[in-house]
Amino acid sequence: MEKKQFQAESKRLLEMMINSIYTQKEIFLRELISNASDAIDKIYYKALTDDNLVFDKDSYAIKITADQQNRTLTISDTGIGMTKEELENHLGVIAKSGSLAFKKENETKDDHTIIGQFGVGFYSAFMVADVVTVISKALNSEGAYKWESSGADGYTIEPCEKDTVGTDIILKIKENTEEESFDEFLDDYRLRSIIKKYSDFIRYPIKMDDEQINSMVPIWKKNKNELTPEDYENFYTEKHYGFDKPLKHIHISADGAVSYQAILYIPESIPFDYYSREYEKGLELYSSGVLIMNKCGELLPDYFSFVKGMVDSESLSLNISREMLQHDRQLKLIAKNIASKIKSQLKSMLQQEREKYEQFYKSFGRQLKYGVYSDFGSHKDALQDLLMFYSSKEKKLVTLEEYVAGMPEEQKYIYYASGESIERIEKLPQTELVAEKGYEILYFTEDIDEFAIKMLQSYKEKEFKSVSSSDLGIEGEENQSDADAENSEHQELFAYMSNLLAGKVTKVKASKRLKSHPVCLSTEGEVTIEMEKILSAMPN
Ligand code: ADP
Ligand code: MG
Repeated sequence: MEKKQFQAESKRLLEMMINSIYTQKEIFLRELISNASDAIDKIYYKALTDDNLVFDKDSYAIKITADQQNRTLTISDTGIGMTKEELENHLGVIAKSGSLAFKKENETKDDHTIIGQFGVGFYSAFMVADVVTVISKALNSEGAYKWESSGADGYTIEPCEKDTVGTDIILKIKENTEEESFDEFLDDYRLRSIIKKYSDFIRYPIKMDDEQINSMVPIWKKNKNELTPEDYENFYTEKHYGFDKPLKHIHISADGAVSYQAILYIPESIPFDYYSREYEKGLELYSSGVLIMNKCGELLPDYFSFVKGMVDSESLSLNISREMLQHDRQLKLIAKNIASKIKSQLKSMLQQEREKYEQFYKSFGRQLKYGVYSDFGSHKDALQDLLMFYSSKEKKLVTLEEYVAGMPEEQKYIYYASGESIERIEKLPQTELVAEKGYEILYFTEDIDEFAIKMLQSYKEKEFKSVSSSDLGIEGEENQSDADAENSEHQELFAYMSNLLAGKVTKVKASKRLKSHPVCLSTEGEVTIEMEKILSAMPN
């Protein structure tokens, strides 16, 4: 029989699995059970939405059978199955986008960190098995097929016998070596505890000797008090929401105008593809416990696009299509509700867990600023209290609320200075007068900062003012008659300078603003120098 080759990327991952020194090899079972559960989800969903298909609720299950004599462990499911083509395409190739990041970012890391962070999926079976056999019969297809591989040198596919729709995965468990024993993966007691640990929430029965091992209550239906932070972390990992750990979870159980449960996560670090075109925001959407969509973008505003997680609602129809979702009233209500929960969670993090909030802000603060900028009308109130900027006085991030609270009575404006970096801004001549007055200055080091603030215009009735604007609103700032006198006295010099700098500046004049610097640039009107730089760098 012809042996087919794995796609190059898959081969690399596979080799790593085979030679893995990763200590938590047990996670292979979590991966295979989660695939079985996905496959049952698919057939269940089909049955619910297709009148021609009957689905007998009692007959779906995931069965785990260990055979110590033959050293095999079998994971069987009554899911949707795979056709010959699907066996080839899904098991011969890593289809998921994660593989890309995997290739780029992990070139130098050892496999311990990679396996811990990466959703390894089906191939993790090779951590514990020499040979992996997949026997599958797809829904609505005639025959069954057997896929088999004993490692990186390729796989075979041939027709075989199987009466019922579904998939059996048969692992030939590795022989023990001097360093390592694999017997535990054939031991019933040990297998039960692995299932309990990682797969308790799986919504279909996981059976051994006909006994159900998992409690089957999905985590989002459980009471918050029953759950530990580890439970939420495990769910995050099991769902492959990210390769990191969640910084914060939000568990919502809403009963009211619209009823739904949700588990949302704020990731600890920026997803590898976050700032690329490939990144797709969205939450998993379930209707009465059945997964209907992997990424429902309508559930999250862009400025919270970093949030991961799932929503389950009884108020949504199973038959809902992507197009219909956009107009669904229930879904809109849920989305609105979710956005306000995220906001209040972030606010309380800001108030009670400052360090954590700052960590969050370093990763995703930029997104909040884009939110203020792009759709100011509706998001201003939601977002302005979550913004932070580096402060000249505190030498750390402060909120606008903190800034305003610290303003002396006579201070009229919220002052800011823009520049490439904190160090650069500190050297700006324009900051001198404001700083000498003892006023705090916010440092804007990101392109988006000034644009966002222009949208806000003011905070608590205090307007924002760039330190390089011509009118700083500081008493006695520029004694007009003094300046006028100097202007007329040096009229010739200034005219000569303007001439030299023609096309670069519009006017040269005397200023009383500077303390230790001889000269500075300032602007008249709305657009500041920093904004001009950004605007002129933009492609037309
Ligand atoms: P993922 O689950 O993230 O897609 P995996 O490597 O775990 O990645 O699985 C690859 C693909 O193989 C799945 O997406 C699915 O299409 C298919 N697959 C794996 N196991 C099964 C199964 N038990 N039943 C049906 N399809 C399966
Ligand atoms: Mg999987």
